[in-house]
Amino acid sequence: MKYQKLADVYQNLENTPAKLEKVKIISRLMKEADDEELKMIALLIQGRVFPSFDDREIGIAAQSMEKIIVQATGFSSKDVGSMFRELGDYGLVAEKLIGKKKQQTLFNRPLTLEKVFDNLQKISGMEGRGSQDRKFRLVAELVSSAKPLEAKYIVRTTIGDLRIGVAEGIVRDAIADAFLDTETQEKKKESTSAVEWAWFLRPDYSEVALIAKRKGIDGLNNVKIQVGKPYHVLLAEKSPGLEEALSSFEKPALEYKYDGARVIIHKKGDKMWFYTRRLENVTRQFPELQDFVKEGVRARECIIEGEMIGFSKETGKPMPFQFLSQRIKRKYDIDRMAKEIPISVNVFDIVYLDGKDLFERPLSERWETLKTIIRPIKGKFQLAEHIETKDLEEADKFYRKALSASQEGLIVKNMDAKYHPGRRVAGGWLKVKPVMETLDLAIIGATWGTGKRAGWLGSYILGCRDEESGNFLNCGMIGTGIKEKKSEKVEEDSAGAVTFKELTDMLKSKITEEHGSEVKIKPDLVVEVAYEEIQKSPNYESGYALRFPRVLKIRPDKDVSEADTTGRIKELYSQQKGKRSG
Ligand code: AMP
Repeated sequence: MKYQKLADVYQNLENTPAKLEKVKIISRLMKEADDEELKMIALLIQGRVFPSFDDREIGIAAQSMEKIIVQATGFSSKDVGSMFRELGDYGLVAEKLIGKKKQQTLFNRPLTLEKVFDNLQKISGMEGRGSQDRKFRLVAELVSSAKPLEAKYIVRTTIGDLRIGVAEGIVRDAIADAFLDTETQEKKKESTSAVEWAWFLRPDYSEVALIAKRKGIDGLNNVKIQVGKPYHVLLAEKSPGLEEALSSFEKPALEYKYDGARVIIHKKGDKMWFYTRRLENVTRQFPELQDFVKEGVRARECIIEGEMIGFSKETGKPMPFQFLSQRIKRKYDIDRMAKEIPISVNVFDIVYLDGKDLFERPLSERWETLKTIIRPIKGKFQLAEHIETKDLEEADKFYRKALSASQEGLIVKNMDAKYHPGRRVAGGWLKVKPVMETLDLAIIGATWGTGKRAGWLGSYILGCRDEESGNFLNCGMIGTGIKEKKSEKVEEDSAGAVTFKELTDMLKSKITEEHGSEVKIKPDLVVEVAYEEIQKSPNYESGYALRFPRVLKIRPDKDVSEADTTGRIKELYSQQKGKRSG
């Protein structure tokens, strides 16, 4: 196929805003293509020459385009630069200048789809000294043998900015339209879901399009997951609260929602691959995970999922996701980073074991299977914290435990549910975590601690400001989010984390009354508080109580007159109700 044909289609798509029309345009092109062309079109139409999970990329930045267009057209940098400033798009600049080209091209054969595709793929493989120049030359060669419209899209594809408004959903629908039955609405839905299903398991439209063409809907529905290749994972839905989540399922399981990164572990004999939920290949970035899996997984071939969290080397405490994220994109210094940011993996699911897909099996069975193959390695590789209960009190306790272990909350899972790749499915996983609409509240009372916390003020009474009287009215008790020990690392405390001792020192002089272990404190110190929800409560002077509050940071920079008011809490309460009924 001539590249010109694709360029015309691009142009057509760019000028057609309607989604259905776009689907038809792409579908027509796909039907005309032979198998090899189809594979290329499925990618090129998205402006790619590799599927999204492939970490190879063309790697030419827009800024380099000026130089390339100069090489390709013979116009000066000044001309190219000023035209770019006028048009704001190197694609348009190339289109215009190729039309008026000063240099003659050596080969005047028309460009084929294959030539453009192969050359762009080749560019991504160029590495080492002088590779940048070789890349530029290859693109310049393509551009200079192109017609104006072709030049426009070659340039845009090279810099990864196609601007034709074709998202993944349009490619999916086009494949269904080209090769499957879409006569009735019902058939259309069935066909589209088959394409989508196949794409969840093989996230590469060039493969999916070919399966649709050759094997039709049955072929798509029978696509199997491949060990070593990423797939789109099951996602969680939001839940308004723990109680609702618990009552959503007949057989709920509760697990810590770890504040880390999802890791999908593929193992085939001694070979392993690790992917993130965004299908990034992080095998190289986590060398120690190879050792964990070798020691901790008893299976020849499997695909298991878990959440990895980063730990502080100094304190041994779990750190938030941002800390771990430094390792995910890392290309250099991998071993040093592995020492700086050690990880621990909590495994929670299995989707494939020794030749068998487990998607269709209920979670209860998958969890049992997982238990039989995991040999925990203390502090490094273990099953996720998991309980099965419908009892709210027990669930509450588990939730608090998760929060005080510095994790985000819970995921409540339906033990009867299948694993549905790629989706937030109703009836699958529900996440429960404190709502992050924070409140600034004053500390107005406390209780002296006992045992390990003797000598410190332990749990604190939070107060909001009553606009009319200016008094502070209690609205919750808090003990979570405060640390027992100071950490050695300055940056860990820089986020505002505070210890019981520090708080006690700050508040001691403000005690106005003592009754047994209970004290009243003059409102002076403001803390920023996160919580899960606000409830109406006659037991609190303000009429409201925060559920699962935790201290995010102390706000010595804030005066109590700036603390949030009863009115604000009332407002948040009604917004939250609005959200729930909506
Ligand atoms: P969210 O990112 O808020 O949509 O929550 C879903 C994410 O929570 C998943 O993609 C996982 O990375 C993470 N997660 C943490 N702990 C668990 C767990 N026990 N089960 C499932 N996902 C978990």
